[in-house]
Amino acid sequence: MLTDATHAPALRSWVASANLPGCDFPIQNLPLGRFRPPTAEGAETEPPRVGVAIGDQVLDLKLAAAQCPWPDEIYPLLEPLTAGDLANFMAMGRPAWQLLRAALSVALAEDSDQGPFLELCLHPQADLTMLLPCVVRDYTDFYIGIHHATAIGKMLRPDSPLLPNYKWLPIGYHGRASSVGLGGPLRRPLGQIRLAADAPPVYAPTRRLDYEMELGLWVGVGNKAGEPVAIDIAEDQLFGVTLLNDWSARDIQSWEYQPLGPFLSKSFATSVSPWVVSFDALAPFRRPLQRPAGDPAPLDYLDSPANRAHGSFGITLEVWLQTARMRAARLPAVRLSHADMAEAAYWTPAQLLAHHTSNGCPLATGDLFGTGTLSGPGAGQGGSLMELSRGGREPLLLPGGEQRCFLENGDTVALRAYCEAPGAVRIGLGAVAGTVMAA
Ligand code: CA
Repeated sequence: MLTDATHAPALRSWVASANLPGCDFPIQNLPLGRFRPPTAEGAETEPPRVGVAIGDQVLDLKLAAAQCPWPDEIYPLLEPLTAGDLANFMAMGRPAWQLLRAALSVALAEDSDQGPFLELCLHPQADLTMLLPCVVRDYTDFYIGIHHATAIGKMLRPDSPLLPNYKWLPIGYHGRASSVGLGGPLRRPLGQIRLAADAPPVYAPTRRLDYEMELGLWVGVGNKAGEPVAIDIAEDQLFGVTLLNDWSARDIQSWEYQPLGPFLSKSFATSVSPWVVSFDALAPFRRPLQRPAGDPAPLDYLDSPANRAHGSFGITLEVWLQTARMRAARLPAVRLSHADMAEAAYWTPAQLLAHHTSNGCPLATGDLFGTGTLSGPGAGQGGSLMELSRGGREPLLLPGGEQRCFLENGDTVALRAYCEAPGAVRIGLGAVAGTVMAA
């Protein structure tokens, strides 16, 4: 049984905006996030709180715990959340996450007895400063988008774009946790760039700034060193999903990446969306793991019947761009590309966690995985400008007549994602946006 009463399509909320078609946060979603409550002018800044996104509102769980009656078994779950600490709740594990989800679903449903109490515990989302869900303990970026890996590989090795290991293990590298944030202004990074193949490098602002359209996976429950996590329980250790933009400086990357992989071309910034959507909310959008005929079967530690049957997810990701000139001319952002995770990803979230721990590497609450760029197979489905502009050779034409191969100062890049399936209410992941500033 993959879905339950919390996914019922007929379920509606007493928060009216949650029932509007196209809303990212209907009652079937219930993502958690951390925020700073609004403060009166001159008042001291309050400590972070944890809330649930519902429609265009946020249910403040500190207020909700104090002002509303809850079933007895819910109070221990609310304890860390009341303290503004999402990490301690993430560490409690999936049974606790599911129990709270069910209680929130009842409390926020139309005609709920708790509604009259909880009406006083809402903030408009627009009034809040969002924060990272928790301290990012460590960050690993994978490379599971097979169409992305193929497109990039073709630029380097036209005859054999995918390296022999690609279909046997999820490729990854260790990223930088200290520069993970929620987006906003992004200073164009400087680095070593080689302007001609036979010239010495110079230290200069990147000329090839790019984004990468990815999902972020947040570890809830860790494992001890030396104890690999079996594929059957691997997904239960993941707390949920956000968007992730792996900003990349392609000219710095192409000079530095051999032989150990990306370093300063990626570590200057990574942006995630603030609302963590649980795997339980994603249940109606599960998909089988699809592999082309003739591809190798995963080794046993990366394989299970459940993972094959429904380990992937139908999540549509989009990239939107608005340049400074478009903003000045009041031209709306333009969608540059879109792709579906189930179609783009060669490996599932469960396989990433099982593989990461397969050598005994300990993971802990607050570890973050990037999936890698999730490009679709078609033209215009590339999840980075590197792909869309074919390595900077074919500029994109934008509304208003501008052209882009890579990002210019003043460009705002926004990632969005949503899930749709027959018989299910659409849910969204929200958005993460960043604007490029001069070096
Ligand atoms: Ca990446």
